[in-house]
Amino acid sequence: MALLENKVAFVSGGGSGIGRAVAEAYAREGAKVVISDINVEHGEETIKIIKEQGGEAFFVKGDSSSALDNKHMVEVTVSKYGRLDISCNNAGMGGPAKPTGEYAPEDWDKVIALNLSGVFYVCRYQLEQMEKNGGGSIVNIASIHGQVAAPLSPAYTASKHGVVGLTKNIGAEYAQKNIRCNAVGPGYIETALLKDNLNKDAMTAIAAKAPMNRLGTSEEIAELVVFFKFGQIILYNRKLFYCRWRLYSNIKILSNSKKLSPYEVVFLCFNFKFKNRILFIK
Ligand code: NAD
Repeated sequence: MALLENKVAFVSGGGSGIGRAVAEAYAREGAKVVISDINVEHGEETIKIIKEQGGEAFFVKGDSSSALDNKHMVEVTVSKYGRLDISCNNAGMGGPAKPTGEYAPEDWDKVIALNLSGVFYVCRYQLEQMEKNGGGSIVNIASIHGQVAAPLSPAYTASKHGVVGLTKNIGAEYAQKNIRCNAVGPGYIETALLKDNLNKDAMTAIAAKAPMNRLGTSEEIAELVVFFKFGQIILYNRKLFYCRWRLYSNIKILSNSKKLSPYEVVFLCFNFKFKNRILFIK
């Protein structure tokens, strides 16, 4: 039986990059997937790809920075497939490159509205629905800049730090309701977002710092996002998983207080070693 058979998943910003790869991966694992995006053409394209691969998916247009649209996206998911089990809240933007002292307040507002408020809005309505289901799992897409500065991107850094904080709070508040909330913090991934914000030389320089001499791919992030959905691993909650492509071949897992059981360690090592990565558990 596929990992996500009979599950209903939602992905915001599923029309491109990481969101599309996650949506495809959820569908491959048997989930029915609702994809939202502000770009209808790209969203529909993702649906077409999933259907061609034999999966089940549905598109809803929505602006992830709007509270009303987020409410609508959750309502559409439930009216189409009856429930919501899994969500990857991924829609995001980089914003202009300017030092903090020159950053336009309206640009700040736009980035915060999508990258942080948008994640709050969608979680708020998803939690309501997941409580009705009796549980669920949310993965918010943060960034390595949820932990370290991204000079010239103050709003991006602040928004992603905010997503990490919000994720921790939700995890703490809803653990007893069988709802887990984790964040994945990608390093530099070759997507439209990166290409729109960095020139070729900057991208080459970033790639050169990675031992594998390349940027990460959306599919590699999707693997980790789907891994969170494995129903048996209930230990993971309130955690931020950073994918550091500075240490390219490693996925570093920052574990918090609770100790892993031997079974969980074996399971994790198997999963990651299998994919030729080394797992660090702090
Ligand atoms: P992308 O540009 O390829 O995809 C973003 C998607 O979000 C697009 O389909 C776009 O249409 C959609 N979108 C934009 N504004 C929207 C809105 N207001 N409402 C709904 N949808 C909207 O970018 P990506 O690299 O795949 O980024 C996805 C997420 O990953 C973002 O949250 C980003 O911050 C995060 N991230 C990316 C990288 C990277 O290097 N690419 C690194 C760390 C984190």
